[in-house]
Amino acid sequence: MSFKSLGLSEPLLKAISKKGYDTPSPIQAKAIPPVLEGKDVLASAQTGTGKTAGFTLPLLHLLSENTNQRRRSIRALILTPTRELAAQVYANVKEYSEFLDIRSTVIFGGVNQKPQVATLKQGVDVLVATPGRLIDLENQGLLSLKHVEIFVLDEADRMLDMGFLRDIERVMKIMPSKRQNLMFSATFSKDIKKLAYSILNNPIQVEATPENTAVEVIEQKVYRVAKGKKTDLIIKLITDGNWKQVLVFNRTKHGANKLCKKMISSGITAAAIHGNKSQGARTKALAGFKNGSIRVLVATDIAARGLDIPLLPHVINFELPNISEDYVHRIGRTGRAGASGEAISLVSADETTFLRDIEKLIDMKIEVEILEGFEPDPNASTEPIKPGQNRNQGRGRGANNRNSGKSKSSSSDRNKSKSRNRNNDNRR
Ligand code: AMP
Repeated sequence: MSFKSLGLSEPLLKAISKKGYDTPSPIQAKAIPPVLEGKDVLASAQTGTGKTAGFTLPLLHLLSENTNQRRRSIRALILTPTRELAAQVYANVKEYSEFLDIRSTVIFGGVNQKPQVATLKQGVDVLVATPGRLIDLENQGLLSLKHVEIFVLDEADRMLDMGFLRDIERVMKIMPSKRQNLMFSATFSKDIKKLAYSILNNPIQVEATPENTAVEVIEQKVYRVAKGKKTDLIIKLITDGNWKQVLVFNRTKHGANKLCKKMISSGITAAAIHGNKSQGARTKALAGFKNGSIRVLVATDIAARGLDIPLLPHVINFELPNISEDYVHRIGRTGRAGASGEAISLVSADETTFLRDIEKLIDMKIEVEILEGFEPDPNASTEPIKPGQNRNQGRGRGANNRNSGKSKSSSSDRNKSKSRNRNNDNRR
């Protein structure tokens, strides 16, 4: 199968070959044809599957072929949950539209709105946006969605997790009802299905390879360790292994900051990335991590979601996620584009239940090791960490003033595993 056989136009094929892609990924092969036919599409795909090109390429094709419509008037809107993802999707839109007469831009919060407004005033065909800033600017009368022909909702599951349901509903109201809709989600809970039902018309459903297949190519290991010794253990592993690019997951913003400071004081270059960091700080941290000047990036789940970090050799779960699916998302970052990777989890007694749930979800036992000097505490309770039990953290934007409670009981039907303790989301 080639990109050409999917029916994409020459300028797009040129941009694709400039990117160096020869073959469409499975999600691209499945999603591009129905999108080109003008159908609504519901796609099950997570980051790393090539989903961005899966919707961007046919979207650009349709916009550039259909030139009778109003140009430069936001004809396509791509909504993403996080700023990083918005920036990445926009970078893709720019690259794929290099040989087309299409203008695009991106807007998100945390940065000055003035340059964004100035670009919007000049007119754009494709807008990539996070919900908060989009609605702010619309409320101020600085943009209009009256001419949207194609609407893309990317990472819909995270949108709900972050409490953006009301914002999505608001956005739906200010777009024309006659339009093409594409919705992407990694998981399909009842809430997601309900949302899909309210957005999509007769959608074609497409699915990338099931999430769990990626898990098998990743080397996974658990170190059972006393909670108080985790920091020393992680520093030892990174130092002894001389690991150069390590993504570390923490459940809380506070924990991420603390660990990052400890790393730095041990001579390891590190940066933290989470919802309380300014956009500038997040962009800088990610750039440093990609170019090798930062060895360790300590992230919370939501902040890390959607980050395009190719060929990541090491992922460490400093703490296990309380939502089992997040484990799969986290470690999936080491197995991208066919490259193998290593995923290590530091597990203390109170995370025993989380570990058991994860093993149930991925349907495999993870190898356990105990390092001398870093033994687990035999007297520690195996009672799971409860929401609210950790140090109290600042709340994320979506969760803060929106309906964060709504997504608390969502569960992945595909994985048939219960998502628990959703109320911890506001700490990420
Ligand atoms: P995404 O899932 O959209 O975040 O894409 C994941 C990664 O795969 C990105 O680094 C893309 O540049 C890359 N990618 C997307 N489509 C292809 C393709 N057809 N062939 C090779 N790499 C691709």
